[in-house]
Amino acid sequence: MVMPHPSASSPSQPVIVIGAGLSGLCCALRLHEAGRDVTVFDQHDRVGGRIATDVQDGFLLDRGFQVLLTSYSEVRARLDLDALALAAFRSGSAIQTNKGVRVIADPFREPWTAIQSLLSGTLSLRDALRAYRLRRALLSHPPATGSANDILKGSGISESLQASFFRPFFQGVTLDPDLAVPADYFAFLFRMFATGAATLPRDGIGAIPRQLAAGLKPGSIRLKTAVRTARARHVVLADGTHVDAAAVIVATEGSAAADLAGTPPPSGHRATTCVYFAVAGPPPFTPRLLLLNGTGSGTALHVCVPSVIQASYAPPGHHLVSATVLGDASEDVHNKVRADLRAWFGDTVDEWQHLRNSAVPRALPVLRSSGAVMSRPGFERAQNGVVVCGDHLATPSIQGAMLAGRNAAEEVLRETAAG
Ligand SMILES: Cc1cc2nc3c(=O)[nH]c(=O)nc-3n(C[C@H](O)[C@H](O)[C@H](O)COP(=O)(O)OP(=O)(O)OC[C@H]3O[C@@H](n4cnc5c(N)ncnc54)[C@H](O)[C@@H]3O)c2cc1C
Repeated sequence: MVMPHPSASSPSQPVIVIGAGLSGLCCALRLHEAGRDVTVFDQHDRVGGRIATDVQDGFLLDRGFQVLLTSYSEVRARLDLDALALAAFRSGSAIQTNKGVRVIADPFREPWTAIQSLLSGTLSLRDALRAYRLRRALLSHPPATGSANDILKGSGISESLQASFFRPFFQGVTLDPDLAVPADYFAFLFRMFATGAATLPRDGIGAIPRQLAAGLKPGSIRLKTAVRTARARHVVLADGTHVDAAAVIVATEGSAAADLAGTPPPSGHRATTCVYFAVAGPPPFTPRLLLLNGTGSGTALHVCVPSVIQASYAPPGHHLVSATVLGDASEDVHNKVRADLRAWFGDTVDEWQHLRNSAVPRALPVLRSSGAVMSRPGFERAQNGVVVCGDHLATPSIQGAMLAGRNAAEEVLRETAAG
């Protein structure tokens, strides 16, 4: 609904949502369910924002290594998980060490593997007990202050197990090399991994926003439409068109929200690059586990064979290997990764075909706080009257983005119901 400006706002005017990432889509869906007319604008030619999957030569290449955790409450409430045809990783991780690969399993879900780890000396009894104590503490009494790093330091778990397992695992999730994320968020992530499954959808991670978008009224999402200015009752598109609205919600990344709404930008961003290789023939690593870099050197934080988890990630007769690198990586990072992985998999890596380096310089907003962040509503009202939401106001995660969108919609529904 495009109208000349100015005009009085009326209930027949749509609520405008700027951004078709998970926050914007969840916000729009909640408004749609409440009977509101919604228009979503996104500058890109697809929905999903930071969640996307590229198809190359029959391989599914997610833009950065991402997993969908089935324990996220918003995921369970909002997504049709059966339709996504999820395939799950095993719990725990494999660790590439200088002496070979060892597996760390969750004793509550894979007791036999955990016992084997103890019997083989892969895990000491002392570390097993300390890890059990940490798990119990994080699941029952999430800490309200401090950082993930503080929690690990105080856990009594040996430096070697921290360095080979806990740190690379949670660095991969938070993209934070210092693990300075708040302790309550760390406890939340720990609980999500301990109680749910890490999964990949059959059609790639990009299937998630596509499913959400399909729940909206046809025509309500306008792609390739950047918004230049946002105000409480109207927006101005990049081509100068004024569009009136009953309310305006800015569901963009934090830095774009700062431009549109004047809210403080995130204090920085976490970058990551996912290096993809195609492998003809059998997979180089068969367990349905992430393979963490516990060698103490090298470029990749972890390696995965997504096609072992979810066969659709590679065409028949092939496998897909992904290697995740933290921070900004050079354009030839794949050469360094290939050189490192020779020590892991042998000279066979020279036969792997490099597909692409999927670099995401602004993958996650930096999350630093000395207090608790899990109670954040995920939205705020800007001084110019718009409602701003997104992962930057909640937690930098699928759960955070989805929750932020839903809560922002509730806020607008409350406000517009009150007149
Ligand atoms: C590499 C990577 C790995 C991740 N791994 C995980 C993981 O394993 N598990 C997990 O839970 N989370 C993970 N995340 C986090 C999760 O993907 C994000 O937190 C979430 O997708 C953010 O959604 P959002 O809607 O808040 O923002 P975005 O997805 O950034 O959406 C914002 C949208 O606003 C649009 N926009 C911006 N400005 C304008 C404008 N002026 N006009 C119109 N449109 C505009 C953008 O085009 C974009 O579509 C990962 C993220 C990345 C990038």
